[in-house]
Amino acid sequence: MSEKVFNKVLAANRGEIAVRIFRACYDLGIHTVAMYSKEDELSLFRTRADEAYLVGENKSPLGAYLDIPEIIDLAKRRGVDAIHPGYGFLSENADFARACEEAGITFIGPPSDVLGKMGDKLSAKQIAMECGVPVIPGCSEPLRDGQEALEKAISFGFPVILKAAAGGGGRGMRVVRTEAALLTSVNMTREEARVAFGNPTVYMEKFLENPRHIEIQVLSDNFQNAVYLGERDCSMQRRNQKVIEEAPAFGIPRRAIEKLGSRCVEACRRIGYRGAGTFEFLYENGEFYFIEMNTRVQVEHPVTEFITGVDIVAEQIRIAAGERLSFKQRDIEIRGHAIECRINAEDPFTFVPCPGKVTAWHLPGGPGIRIDSHVFAGYTVPPYYDSMIGKLIAYGDTREQALARMRVALTEFACEGIKTNVKLHRLLLSDERFARGGTSIHYLEEKLHSHSSSGVN
Ligand code: ADP
Repeated sequence: MSEKVFNKVLAANRGEIAVRIFRACYDLGIHTVAMYSKEDELSLFRTRADEAYLVGENKSPLGAYLDIPEIIDLAKRRGVDAIHPGYGFLSENADFARACEEAGITFIGPPSDVLGKMGDKLSAKQIAMECGVPVIPGCSEPLRDGQEALEKAISFGFPVILKAAAGGGGRGMRVVRTEAALLTSVNMTREEARVAFGNPTVYMEKFLENPRHIEIQVLSDNFQNAVYLGERDCSMQRRNQKVIEEAPAFGIPRRAIEKLGSRCVEACRRIGYRGAGTFEFLYENGEFYFIEMNTRVQVEHPVTEFITGVDIVAEQIRIAAGERLSFKQRDIEIRGHAIECRINAEDPFTFVPCPGKVTAWHLPGGPGIRIDSHVFAGYTVPPYYDSMIGKLIAYGDTREQALARMRVALTEFACEGIKTNVKLHRLLLSDERFARGGTSIHYLEEKLHSHSSSGVN
């Protein structure tokens, strides 16, 4: 191991991703620090770190993980040399990255100015376009007023989608199908964006009727070395949020992915990107359309880790410590197939969150099975945070084998005391159309619709 890798890393996050970050740190011989809200006092991630500190005593449960001055102060007092932001919370907050830089603490992610540019969906699209990445038809500037919105919508053709430039997590988007609905929709999206993201900037894109969601994982170091780790298919979504992800994507010619991947890598070099990142695309009729970049580790990174053998979180840490990528594009070999089911504490069909005490927790195992979770029997899932309580990932030599292993794992998985969406996953994994591969982003909602109208539950 290089001398440059950090001594002490703080995970400015909670739950499964904090546990994941600590695992990577231990692999690299790094001392770990957790921070936790008072609501997370009895959490597993807290006990998995070498040191753990309460933050946000007088803050809301979410606010505790968002208080930049307090986190920076904690890091300085405890001699932390780098902060891993995980996903969500402050992970795509350029002010946080800057505050770390100013405090002399390494932010495990891109430089704050690059994060600022790529974290804003509209400026990311402009940059992607300049770098030769194929971008979805849409406006390149924020919408000024209703008149402009109408002109643009007519030029792209209805339906269109309105998006908040600062949006994320499937929120801040609205599909508009008619001229009559446009003006109200623009005003509503703008207002929602102002309230939810503190930024009322809204733009418009052509709405694709039947695409798949395909994304490219990249890693880029400080020395202009960048690679892509293949693609993921995250089309199984509900309300624009991912439910199942897999890699590689079924039925897309390798050459098309290679071409797209090289464009993404080239874009990373041009913008001075550093760390792990994901270029997200919609794929329809054989064409890719860039929609946004995520400048952080993603929930679904384990499927890529399975098919490439690369530890993405460890690479993020090494890159942030100033190490060179130890492999080149030609060293990356895609092997087998991996699939991930997001396990949420919610009703499997109404999706109403279901926090509460987990009374029994039995995990599946066997070849090719991985579980990333922060849950244990006796743990109380708090109502304040994301309802994801774990990720179940299955790997196989082929897609069929990965699916078969996932089916068994889902039958072995037992969680009592709270409702989870495992039943929904079992239903999807037994779906013949999904098993064939290549379903679109609307498939899950259509399936749910036919499921509820058939009266089965
Ligand atoms: P977020 O940052 O909130 O995740 P994205 O821009 O990544 O938002 O979009 C999330 C999902 O919304 C996509 O995976 C896709 O299912 C849907 N979506 C986004 N843009 C479009 C579009 N132009 N046409 C059709 N669906 C879209």
